[in-house]
Amino acid sequence: MKPVIAIHGGAGTITRAALNADQEQDYLDALDYVLLGGQSILEKGGSALDAVTEAVLRLEDCPLFNAGKGAVFTHAGTHELDASIMDGRTLAAGAVACVKSLRNPIRAARAVMENGRHVLLVGEGAEAFARQAELETVPSDYYFTVARHDQWLRALADGASNLLDHDAQSRMTETAPIDPDTKMGTVGAVALDAQGNLAAATSTGGVTDKRVGRVGDSPLIGAGCYANNRTAAVSCTGSGEMFIRMLAAYDVSAMMEYRGLSLDEACRAVVMDKLPTIEGRGGLIAVDAQGNVRLTFNTEGMYRGHAYAGGPRQTAIYR
Ligand code: ASP
Repeated sequence: MKPVIAIHGGAGTITRAALNADQEQDYLDALDYVLLGGQSILEKGGSALDAVTEAVLRLEDCPLFNAGKGAVFTHAGTHELDASIMDGRTLAAGAVACVKSLRNPIRAARAVMENGRHVLLVGEGAEAFARQAELETVPSDYYFTVARHDQWLRALADGASNLLDHDAQSRMTETAPIDPDTKMGTVGAVALDAQGNLAAATSTGGVTDKRVGRVGDSPLIGAGCYANNRTAAVSCTGSGEMFIRMLAAYDVSAMMEYRGLSLDEACRAVVMDKLPTIEGRGGLIAVDAQGNVRLTFNTEGMYRGHAYAGGPRQTAIYR
C-alpha cells in the first residue's frame, strides 16, 4: 500500500477542436502543480487530510477552475461558493455553502470539521464563523475572470433552459479544453496516507447562471464528498442535482461495504449505470484503503490526475 492522491478539476464536453496545444498545456501544468502539492505532503509522511486540503487550496487559487478564484456567476451576477471535507478515519466532516467572501472555502469547511459542533454552515453564518477563525476574506471582484463573465453573459443570452444540451461545436470561441458552457466544473481531491487513512475534499462555484441560494452536491456529505477508511474516499463533479438524488459519493462506499464490490465496480456502477438513468452527467475520483485509484466519468472529458508517493504525476483531460 502506497500513499496516493487523485484530483479533479471538473468534467464536461470537449472543445478540443478550438484549442491549441499551449492552451491544453496550461491545464495540464496547473493539474501537475496541484498534484505536486498533495504528493509532497504524502511523501513527507503527512496526512491524507492535509494532502487533500493543500490540493484543493491550489485548485481554488487557480483561475482556470470553477472554485475560489475563477468561480462561475449566479443568475444575479454574483458568486456563491460551496466546499466540503471528510476524514475517513473518524467520519468527521465539515462543509460550507453559499459563501461569498472567503478566498478559500475549503479552509472554512476544514475549520467547521475541526470545530466539531456542526457539519454544514451556510451563508452569513458560515462567513461569520470563518471570520472568527481568522480565515482570509476577499472582495467579490476577487473571483472575477473574463472567461467566466463571458460564459455568464452567454448563459443569460441563451436562457437557462437550453444550456445543458447545447452543442459544443457551436461554441468555438472557447479557450478551455472542456466546454465551460456545459455549466459543469468543480474541484476535488482524495488521498490515502502512510497511516492508511483516507480523506476527500470538494469545492465549487456551482453551475453558471444558478439561482441565488442554490446549493449543489459539492458541500453535501454523501452526495459530492465522502470518505470512510473501511471503503473509499470519493469526490464528485457533474450535474449536482442528480448527484444529490443518487447520493453518488456515499453510494460508492455503500456498494463496497454492503455488496463487497471492488472500487472499480462501485465507481462504474454509480457513474456509468446509475447516474445516467436520471441523466446525471459528470464523474468522480476515488481511492480505496489499498491505494487503488479510479477516475471515472461519463462525459467526454474530466480534468484529472493522480500520483503515488515517489511516483510520476499523471494528468489527463480527455477520455
Ligand atoms: N457538481 C457541481 C454543482 O452542482 C458542479 C460541477 O461539478 O460541475 O454545483
